[in-house]
Amino acid sequence: MLQVKTTCPYCGVGCGLVVSHNDDKTFSVSGDKKHPANFGRLCSKGSALAETLDMENRLLQPVVNGQQCDWDMALDTVADRFQEVIEQHGPEAVAFYVSGQLLTEDYYVANKLMKGFIGSSNIDTNSRLCMSSSVAGHKRAFGSDTVPGCYQDLEQCELLILTGSNMAWCHPVLYQRIVQAKKNNPEMKVVVIDPRRTASCDVADLHLALKPGSDAILFNGLLNWLNEHNHGDAEFIHKHTEGLDEALRVAQWFSPNVEAAAQHCELGTDDVAILYQWFSKTEKTVTVYSQGINQSSSGTDKVNAIINCHLFTGRIGQPGMGPFSVTGQPNAMGGREVGALSNQLAAHMDFDKADIDRVERFWQAPKMATKPGLKAVDLFEALHRGEIKALWVIATNPAVSMPDAYRVRQAMQQCDFLVVSDCATQTDTTALADVLLPALAWGEKSGTVTNSERCISRQRPFLEAPENAKADWWILSQVAQRMGYHGFDYQRPQQIFREHAALSAFENNGTRDFDLSALADIDAESYENFKPTQWPIKTGQQAQARVFGNGEFFTANGRAKFISVTPQPPGRLPDIDYPMVLNTGRVRDQWHTMTRTGKSPRLNGHVIESYAELNKIDAKAMAIYPGQLVEVKSTQGKVIVRASINESQRRGSVFVPMHWNDQFASSAVVDKVVNAYTDPISGQPEFKHTPVQVTPYNAAWYGFILSRDMIETASFSYWARSRRQGLWHYELAGNQMADDWANYARQLLCSDAQGVEWSEFFDSSKQTYRGARFIDGQLDSCAFIGTGYHLPPRDWLIELFSKDIVDRQERMRVLSGTPGVGQEDAGKIVCSCFSVGRNTLCKKIKQMKLTTPEQIGEHLQAGTNCGSCMPELRELIVEVGGG
Ligand code: SF4
Repeated sequence: MLQVKTTCPYCGVGCGLVVSHNDDKTFSVSGDKKHPANFGRLCSKGSALAETLDMENRLLQPVVNGQQCDWDMALDTVADRFQEVIEQHGPEAVAFYVSGQLLTEDYYVANKLMKGFIGSSNIDTNSRLCMSSSVAGHKRAFGSDTVPGCYQDLEQCELLILTGSNMAWCHPVLYQRIVQAKKNNPEMKVVVIDPRRTASCDVADLHLALKPGSDAILFNGLLNWLNEHNHGDAEFIHKHTEGLDEALRVAQWFSPNVEAAAQHCELGTDDVAILYQWFSKTEKTVTVYSQGINQSSSGTDKVNAIINCHLFTGRIGQPGMGPFSVTGQPNAMGGREVGALSNQLAAHMDFDKADIDRVERFWQAPKMATKPGLKAVDLFEALHRGEIKALWVIATNPAVSMPDAYRVRQAMQQCDFLVVSDCATQTDTTALADVLLPALAWGEKSGTVTNSERCISRQRPFLEAPENAKADWWILSQVAQRMGYHGFDYQRPQQIFREHAALSAFENNGTRDFDLSALADIDAESYENFKPTQWPIKTGQQAQARVFGNGEFFTANGRAKFISVTPQPPGRLPDIDYPMVLNTGRVRDQWHTMTRTGKSPRLNGHVIESYAELNKIDAKAMAIYPGQLVEVKSTQGKVIVRASINESQRRGSVFVPMHWNDQFASSAVVDKVVNAYTDPISGQPEFKHTPVQVTPYNAAWYGFILSRDMIETASFSYWARSRRQGLWHYELAGNQMADDWANYARQLLCSDAQGVEWSEFFDSSKQTYRGARFIDGQLDSCAFIGTGYHLPPRDWLIELFSKDIVDRQERMRVLSGTPGVGQEDAGKIVCSCFSVGRNTLCKKIKQMKLTTPEQIGEHLQAGTNCGSCMPELRELIVEVGGG
């Protein structure tokens, strides 16, 4: 059986995969047991990758002004229009907006073209939205953008602090490694710092549900407390750092003692004291942070407040200790390496005179950029003002993912010339493009990615490029050549990687952390067989798992810098009109804007539509009930989503996931609601804190449709669709009752096919309609409409679609909306790998008095493959009171 080793295209853990070609021309995906990121593990998303390889919604031909064309025409159009704008308005009038989904080789060519040849730095990446505050924090403290540690540190530490990170859902394999490490070492402590009680709290010994935005106060308090109690590493501080006195002086303002820190953060004093004591006495401490820290209008300061505590105790670059930023995207780190952030040059160089000169000579660049370009939010603002006239969006969907997304859409709509390279035909961004360029998808691409621990891995193709789809590096190089630039005659990604590695080594002499000198001459065979390797990889030396263990940093004097952090309030505070704080983030089984995960029936069973998670007490005060639709509105825009009510959400906060877009729901693009406040240093937007109002959304009717075919959604005031096994699942609501529901349903479900039979029921007193359409005895579609939002269960109905013949009795049951004896509604999917639903789990836990997820696994297999559902299984055991 042919097998190809490659890398997962989703999160920054960067798991290694083995893709096997099966005899029936399908593929199987499993974890690569030898890859150091995952050692064979996969999460639910990685496990379902084989379900996402179809050609549905694939962009396969270039399109110019709505007309398919050949590559020559498309490339000439892009090159000519960009050249025209540059000639008329200068290089600052064009921009690229790229993505952490790109491979390093693609990223390198995009950056080289913009910064070395067009002569502008207006190239920014969606990684700006994800971890640019970490980059800025690293550079301020270390003089370089270096993650000091490696994943093993998370297993070797004795205290793990997870702050602003729901790792169980966002970096699941890393989380599983921690769960295993804690099992191996029961003394290991885990602290979760997060306003929400998330799935990651499943392993927490302490959860600090701090006030949103107060992280810097908590870590300033820790620095102050460590100092007052003499827990500093005096020798390390003296020999290897500077700036401590000022950092301490400022830290004392807001956090002079535990009580003050606790009060500002709205936490219990005892809980904060426990954190401070554990930190002080545990040498092997790792602090992992992610978007909850970075996505803030003072994210860079928060990062430095964390790093300060590690510098103070000298806990950095040693086994089991250090600050650790985990990235969201698969190749956010690769983008940082090639300089795809607008304020960096390539190979971790900056816009100082020497670096500009060095990169210019290396590239033989005719028009080297000499100053930083616009960061993402500013870039789209410049587009809105008409200062940027031509924009090329590559492998990303800013119409959904940028804050104040409605304004971003307006900007792209009115842009003179918008080019979008993508592998999907229909996205919210491709809908606005003048030119569409078909790019390769995962499975077809060849190149490298770098994960959160600086480990470079190969992404290898196992599929042929379909029709006219091309590699991003090829598309960019072709445009560059047609614009008359030399230095872009690449034939293979290996040539680009060599150049990238050579630039990292060029006049480096140990002055820059990012050093791939050992790979600067890599040949085709070695590139093909390249094994996962962490940088730096210097000529004649071993790759380095950890950096800074020797106390040497990349600042001008070689000392790490303590940064004085004055805690700042969020960009905008709640007020009487917008009293709640909106927090956005990911759900377990979706990725970004769902162009890939939205194809997998297994993954979509977990959360079928977007939701607003509210605290029970807040919900009661607002007269909002579970399952109801709600409107979440800010000064920017609004969404209509389903209410999910629990006690995990902090009072005054509401969480809405980031994934849903106009392809999957009528009004669920939460970034239309998010305000565009940014961190003044990193430019990272504040996705975690937008004042909003939440109100019930009362429709005249509610319903759902299950159908083998997609249906027209224009007449619904609310709709959300998801892919289920062999069919589409629509949740619906409308503001106007239909005069004739049967007619309405028949029109929606296309009743004119051969062999069609209908079973219907209409109760005029209750305004309830139920209709099922059968073709040749098989259930083909069904519609349930009523005036209340509590409708019959869906999951057992979905199972009926797999039956060859639905008998008379079952048809009656379909109309009554209740499963028969021996049938049951499995409920929403909890374990995606084995499609085990909530109701099935609850029943078994109760029946068998199960007390552990392992016991559930023995009976139902749930949790025994990827393990991503383990926290939810534990929650269900508590809820049902198993045992
Ligand atoms: Fe992919 Fe999951 Fe691994 Fe992330 S944790 S890289 S999504 S398999």
